[in-house]
Amino acid sequence: MAAEPKTLQEAVIYFGDPDNCLNYLAARRWPNGVTCPRCRSADVGFVKSRHIWQCKTRHDHSQFSIKTGSIFEDSAIGLDKWLLAMWMLANCKNGVSSYEVSRATGISQKSTWFMLQRIRLAMQDVTGGKLGGEVEVDETFIGGKARNMHKDKRARVITGTGGKDKEIAMGMVERGGKVRVFHVDNRRKKALQSNIREHVEAGAAIFSDELKSYDGLESEYQHAVINHAVEYVNGNVHTNTMENFWSLLKRGLGGTYVSVEPFHLFRYLDEQAFRYNNRKDINGEPLTDSDRFDLAVRQIVGKRLTWAEVTGKVGEKQTVN
Ligand SMILES: [Zn+2]
Repeated sequence: MAAEPKTLQEAVIYFGDPDNCLNYLAARRWPNGVTCPRCRSADVGFVKSRHIWQCKTRHDHSQFSIKTGSIFEDSAIGLDKWLLAMWMLANCKNGVSSYEVSRATGISQKSTWFMLQRIRLAMQDVTGGKLGGEVEVDETFIGGKARNMHKDKRARVITGTGGKDKEIAMGMVERGGKVRVFHVDNRRKKALQSNIREHVEAGAAIFSDELKSYDGLESEYQHAVINHAVEYVNGNVHTNTMENFWSLLKRGLGGTYVSVEPFHLFRYLDEQAFRYNNRKDINGEPLTDSDRFDLAVRQIVGKRLTWAEVTGKVGEKQTVN
């Protein structure tokens, strides 16, 4: 069996062979041997000529492929292109646009966009549990870039107050650990604090800026505030970890993604969080590109995403090229 790829260039060659695609995916989906997605039976036979399995138990849909029940289901796009797109998205620090992936795979931009949205779904954080220890919380405004706007709109927006025409992302990061990011409707106390209570252990140390919405956290947390009008760091009181995450995110959104509709924003947040949360292993050692890709692949099983779910347009059919 061919050695698994370590670089983008090796991935292009390796996944150019359909047998390699199948072996790579099957080893991760069924580490203990192939089982039928429908009845879980391990009594299955491989039909080599068609790259599918036949379940020996009698029931409907007794034939299945590696795509069955995954984000690849119902897609006519080859696994070589899916896996190449996944490699790029899992590893490009600032993300990749559907235009770049379209050029690399030869698939239309529209089909590529849909493919990338499915991959982002697979990247959604699957871990439960709450953040603890030292946790920084912060919010940021996203969108409404002045240089992309029509002149009339620019005048209107720029003279307006800060958050006008912008979306709000809220983030929490455990220092030395994982980040969680959300698209929120507003920065009011109720929205921000209910998110904190859901995702941060009571008793943890919370660091935030002086936004009034964070007042009152003292009852459950050790809350320290940095007043950004005065200083950015005071001992260990700062939100620099979260701010570094925002700058990475914005480099991606501003440079690579032409425009992101508010409805889709959370998927880009998930994508950036996936790369951030998988930059190191539990011992603090940096993960390689192939490790990160492997993790993304392991998250595909059992996830499906329809065109309607991606676009919010129920009833509209996707055209696959
Ligand atoms: Zn079966």
